[in-house]
Amino acid sequence: MSLTDLQANESKLLFHTYARYPLELTRGEGVRLFDDAGNSYLDLLSGIGVSALGYGHPAITAAITQQASTLIHTSNLFYNAVTSDLALRLTEITGLDRAFFCNSGAEAWEAAIKLARAHALLLRNEGKQIGTKILALEHSFHGRTIGAVSTTHKTAYREPFAPVMPDVVFIPHNDVEALKATFDSSFCAIAFEVLQGEGGINPISQEFLATARELCDASGALLLLDEIQSGMGRTGKWTAYQHYGIQPDVTTLAKPLAGGIPMGAMVATEEAARAFTPGMHGTTFGGNPFACAVAVAVIDAIKNEGLLAHVTEVGEYFKQQLIDLSKKHSAIMEVRGTGFMLGAEIENADLAKSILEQMMFDKHIILNRTHETVLRFLPPYLITKTDVDTTIKALDELLVAAAVVA
Ligand SMILES: *Cc1c(COP(=O)(O)O)cnc(C)c1O
Repeated sequence: MSLTDLQANESKLLFHTYARYPLELTRGEGVRLFDDAGNSYLDLLSGIGVSALGYGHPAITAAITQQASTLIHTSNLFYNAVTSDLALRLTEITGLDRAFFCNSGAEAWEAAIKLARAHALLLRNEGKQIGTKILALEHSFHGRTIGAVSTTHKTAYREPFAPVMPDVVFIPHNDVEALKATFDSSFCAIAFEVLQGEGGINPISQEFLATARELCDASGALLLLDEIQSGMGRTGKWTAYQHYGIQPDVTTLAKPLAGGIPMGAMVATEEAARAFTPGMHGTTFGGNPFACAVAVAVIDAIKNEGLLAHVTEVGEYFKQQLIDLSKKHSAIMEVRGTGFMLGAEIENADLAKSILEQMMFDKHIILNRTHETVLRFLPPYLITKTDVDTTIKALDELLVAAAVVA
């Protein structure tokens, strides 16, 4: 079927929820994707931060094949060893105590919100004064369920579905004074991304994170850190909060967790986790042996292949090359991020869009644009310095050409 026919079919048959690029991808290998004509593309997006081990990774293929022929699903009514194998790994890499498994990022975040509410109820029953409000940040993104959009700042994602969940208060990103002025005992949680993804690759400041931790410690509210995009090694550590030396009460993981098989997880301290008792929260599919086995394989491959060190080294190189490029081209306003979660802010949305399209269709390098003006790089953990050089050269050529036209 031609791309034109595909487009016509989808336009007729699917909900119009996505504006797709006119590109039909048929196959992947390593850090490369191939279209229907056999053209090869360097992938710097990993399916929005999911395919961290690239395409056709033997450890993932082996886990999928082995577990699919053994047992895919039994429900959460029965025991299966692989589920606790994964929970052990996740508690080790996050420094937290207990895991809850689900099927997506939004579901993990939804679970975190419910846990914060349930934990506050528990504290109230124990005689503590603590309310139900959740403090969230401007430019946040936490997913598309009604609970998750309630804590997501962008009005286009939230307002068409009003009334969303009440009791969410947004304050400006990294505004420590607003945090201190707003937070009080009416809040049950402070909730944010350590490194905002969708909002434009915005790192939280050490001072903001430390202040949020202190306020939660003093009041009993939970610190919920969304690591759905930044976690699982993407910044060179298992979670982005580990760069700050500050532990949350609850963290959420998803995107790369099971190598492209849909999966999410909420990981929490013993103190927070005690708020959920049997029957209070659940899912049919979550934590099935299939997804868990693949996630175990992903974590073991990241460890065995030394990928955290690789992401750190090549990520620093990538960032420095982008910074050098920004010194040459005034159209790059700022470079932000850590490891393989990088953003380059372009002076206007039209130029960012045009560069992105030329990167994809002329240079055959796949990336995306977030917050209109930010070119976002979320490559598989396997890209090399040579891939970075190829990318920088392509960006340089496009920016030189754009400057000539302007
Ligand atoms: C992608 C994302 C989500 C939502 O994950 P889904 O799997 O799309 O539901 C939540 N939080 C952050 C930070 C994300 O990047």
